[in-house]
Amino acid sequence: MPVQFNRTKIICTIGPASAETETIIRLARNGMNIARINMSHGSDESKLAIVENIRKAEKMIGYPIPIIADLCGPKLRLGEIKEPFEISEGEELIITSENITGTRERVSTSYKNLPSDVKRGDPVLINDGLIKLEVIDKTDTDIICKVIDGGLVQSRKGINLPGTKLSIPLITEKDKKDIDFGIKNGADFFAMSFVTSGADIRELKSIITGKAQDIPVIAKIERPAAVNDIDSICGESDAVMIARGDLGVEVLPEEVPMIQKMIISKCIEKNTPVITATQMLESMISSPRPTRAEASDVANAVLDGTDAVMLSGETSVGSYPVETVSMMKRICGKTEKKGFYINRMRLRRNKDENSGDFLVNNMTRAVCSFAVDIDAAAIIVITKTGKTARMLSRFRINTPVIAFVEKEKIIKYLTPVWGVKGELIDNMSDTDSTLKRAKELALKLGYIKTGDHVIFVAGIPLLESNKVNMMKVEVV
Ligand code: PEP
Repeated sequence: MPVQFNRTKIICTIGPASAETETIIRLARNGMNIARINMSHGSDESKLAIVENIRKAEKMIGYPIPIIADLCGPKLRLGEIKEPFEISEGEELIITSENITGTRERVSTSYKNLPSDVKRGDPVLINDGLIKLEVIDKTDTDIICKVIDGGLVQSRKGINLPGTKLSIPLITEKDKKDIDFGIKNGADFFAMSFVTSGADIRELKSIITGKAQDIPVIAKIERPAAVNDIDSICGESDAVMIARGDLGVEVLPEEVPMIQKMIISKCIEKNTPVITATQMLESMISSPRPTRAEASDVANAVLDGTDAVMLSGETSVGSYPVETVSMMKRICGKTEKKGFYINRMRLRRNKDENSGDFLVNNMTRAVCSFAVDIDAAAIIVITKTGKTARMLSRFRINTPVIAFVEKEKIIKYLTPVWGVKGELIDNMSDTDSTLKRAKELALKLGYIKTGDHVIFVAGIPLLESNKVNMMKVEVV
């Protein structure tokens, strides 16, 4: 199997610690499948430099690295602070909407409506909830808070107001500029922050299609409202991200594990790829080894059935970006070997019976069952939209699914999908010759070898989407 084949896909956030082409290449060679740019940070110039370096890196490794442009949405942040400082329980902290450089006297936020949105008694959380404040008073421009849980106050840390209804729209003016930036510079996915419903996804998609573009959208689940509307969000979005950083601030930390399991199982049921994100190997920001609890967290996300796992600060600002992705790949690889096929097969059967895609449901189930029975080395699928490959993935069998497609866009679209690897093939007009060339390419690329059992799946006539009707077994 080629070294870059991951069953569970790995997303790395690219930032100052990893922005150089050389580092991006090393990340990709050590397990990164997808690069994420957090649009919250850095200038357009620095983000453009990252995009250009990713494009250089993918040319050098000879395989596409899709880019997720993660839109910040109505994320509130502290402004710049002259010197980080500590605050302790019982002290006061003033947050102003005036444009100042923060000091111990007052710190700023660019969110002008903060004083009007909050009321006395509301909680204000800073830095993913590490610092907890309570509003005790306010003026037209400032809120005066009592410190409940103290900590280090630093520039640009996130502010969460759980329970407060914000008057800021979900797609901000900055997001609109970032959407234009992403379109102009070839973003392959947009991630939408603080989604509350399926309607939010439709709104972003209509902005994208209004610009004559077709870029997939990832819904970030980080608010209780999104958890409650997960069915509709799964239906509207191209992938879902369990954004545990903000989610764990907006809901109680003890609720996060079961929400994660519920969302992953819902996404598998609906064939929507799901990404588990944030603090997965957090201690590796400053240490070359993870804690045992972090290793278990990654493994448990894999056992839950996540399609992809994501690194944030570990690769964007950490001291060990390459070591972290390589550790993540090792943990995922070790865990995947157990296989969960029998369970998933049983779980799927009832759901499929009520679904409209009768032929593709049953064909893909039969293919996966057979692949396990004969211990196939690979399933080679010829697919136009990638749908059959996604349907094969839902059983999480260990057999790699190699999806031969005509467009690089579909390879990128399939990149977050568990156990699937896209490869390009041209001229799919004739069935026999396409299957023969797919087999030769799979041999050449190292997915299969002489003597292996291989299963071919396609719809005949080729490339008629939704018409999968052929399964062929060959000993190579
Ligand atoms: C998160 O909150 O977990 C997340 C992924 O979003 P961001 O990094 O934009 O805060």
